[in-house]
Amino acid sequence: MAKKVLADFLTPQLNELRENGLYNVIDTIEGPNGPIVTINGKSLINMSSNNYLGLANNERLKQKAHEAIEEYGVGAGAVRTINGTLAIHNELEKTIAKFKHTEAAIAFQSGFNCNMGAISALMTKKDAILSDELNHASIIDGCRLSGAKIIRVKHQDMDDLRRVAKETIESGLYEKIMYITDGVFSMDGDVAKLPEIVEIADEFGLITYVDDAHGSGVMGNGAGTVKHFGLSDRIDLQIGTLSKAIGVVGGYVAGTEQLIDWLKVRARPFLFSTSLTPGDAAACMEAIHIMTESTEKVEKLWENGRYLKEGLKKLGFEIGHSETPITPCIIGKEDLTQLFSRRLMEEGVYAKSITFPTVPRGTGRVRNMPTAAHTKEMLDEVLAVYEKIGKELSII
Ligand SMILES: *Cc1c(COP(=O)(O)O)cnc(C)c1O
Repeated sequence: MAKKVLADFLTPQLNELRENGLYNVIDTIEGPNGPIVTINGKSLINMSSNNYLGLANNERLKQKAHEAIEEYGVGAGAVRTINGTLAIHNELEKTIAKFKHTEAAIAFQSGFNCNMGAISALMTKKDAILSDELNHASIIDGCRLSGAKIIRVKHQDMDDLRRVAKETIESGLYEKIMYITDGVFSMDGDVAKLPEIVEIADEFGLITYVDDAHGSGVMGNGAGTVKHFGLSDRIDLQIGTLSKAIGVVGGYVAGTEQLIDWLKVRARPFLFSTSLTPGDAAACMEAIHIMTESTEKVEKLWENGRYLKEGLKKLGFEIGHSETPITPCIIGKEDLTQLFSRRLMEEGVYAKSITFPTVPRGTGRVRNMPTAAHTKEMLDEVLAVYEKIGKELSII
């Protein structure tokens, strides 16, 4: 019986994970995902969300979503290419393109399926993709789906990129070569070296693809890492998510009109999966309007990032080399990192531990994601708890 086959597969796997303490028990947030969250009835300062600008629960976004639901209903009714393109989707794409300083943009249901759709729409078995070794899982899966040869490049190592690009070209085996990188790497908060990347791409004729999920809403006054470096016309594909700083859900590609025309006929999640809901689209647009009107929230985010980093450093914690508000606190050993995070939670600070295999062995960390919605008082409380637990566990 098939049921037995399935159970025979699942039982030992799940048991092994549970016995080794590797089965991830998911926490449930009771209420909105703001700077303070409630878990199991307990109020905690939230240092774990990607809600960089505090927009996930913003009144203006909620209002716009309500209005769009009244006007269009709750669902789009079909995939974009049949008749699920509502006027609000086109408006959203125009708004994104303007914000990103590109000719056009295409919206997807998530950043994840944006990578699945865009990479496989452009690259084939005859091509090669050079990929930073720390790129996000959705990039890796998108590359695999395309069937192209995947060549890993050492993390942020421009000499290695140059060497690999030269070798790949000289092999004569590939029709096109693409280089893909995260704009901001979310584990360490480091920023892709785009000025050097565009030079190398020009020299070797590489298509450039920047997934700026953690950069949009954060870098370049919100417009992203590419805009931050003034390279809007030199990166071929800018990918972003509408689910992190924008606070809602969805993903997009921004680029030339020609590129977007192609993705609209070839990117499979766009063709075969129902479009964003009207409420999502309206809320996303309002988030972009808020960022365009004023840089206040982005500035507050950076100010909070600096405040937290300085405080942790002063206490004697190792915080790595983040260039963004992402603030890892590097503890080292896997079990100590988990214990540290658990103690923080018991004392009212919700900051998740990240350990091997997500980051290299021995570099376990508690990652802090300050947002624009945190107050100084909240951050002072976070620092006080870090000091207490850091001393308790002899980390500082
Ligand atoms: C989070 C993330 C994604 C996925 O975005 P979603 O909109 O949450 O699906 C893609 N790429 C990178 C680099 C990310 O950090």
